[in-house]
Order: sequence, then C-alpha cells, then structure tokens
Amino acid sequence: MPTFHYEARDSQGQLINDLIEAANFREAVKTLQQEMRYTVISIREARTCSCGRPVPAPGKTCEGCGKVASNPAARLFKFALLAGLAGIVGRLLGVF
Ligand SMILES: [Zn+2]
Repeated sequence: MPTFHYEARDSQGQLINDLIEAANFREAVKTLQQEMRYTVISIREARTCSCGRPVPAPGKTCEGCGKVASNPAARLFKFALLAGLAGIVGRLLGVF
C-alpha cells in the first residue's frame, strides 16, 4: 500500500504531521476525515527511500538508513537535463 504524508488538525485544533498507509489518495483522505475526524490541510504521496521506508520531506534524514532525502525539484531538473542530453545524442546519432 502506498504511504501518504499529511498535515492535519485534530478536533482540538492540534497540528498533526504524520504518515498514513492507504490503498489510494481518496481512501487516505476518507480515513483521516471520517475515521480520525481530522481536518486535512495537505496530503501527498510519500516518496520511498531505497531502504523501503517512506521519506517524510526533502532534506529530512531517513530513519532507516540515515540518508538525506533529495529535493524533488532538483531531481526534476536533473531529469529534464538528462532528457535534453538524450535528445541531443539522439540527433547526433541520427546525423552520423
Ligand atoms: Zn532509507
């Protein structure tokens, strides 16, 4: 089951920052709102570390292996850069 990272407020207005396991996004929100009576502020799928544990937020240290989570924006940029390079190489190969 995927793990979701959420921010919510309980009935006392206490801020909660935690992880929940659910079949999907809708189920996670439903459980939080209907079963736990939380007001969901934000929720997103938690990324999983190479050791299998969910990584709560970029820059935070993994509890399982001590690795620091990378920034998703930086990863996206790297991916775009690689995709761009692949395009250039592909074009060069087409030429030669
Ligand atoms: Zn880890």
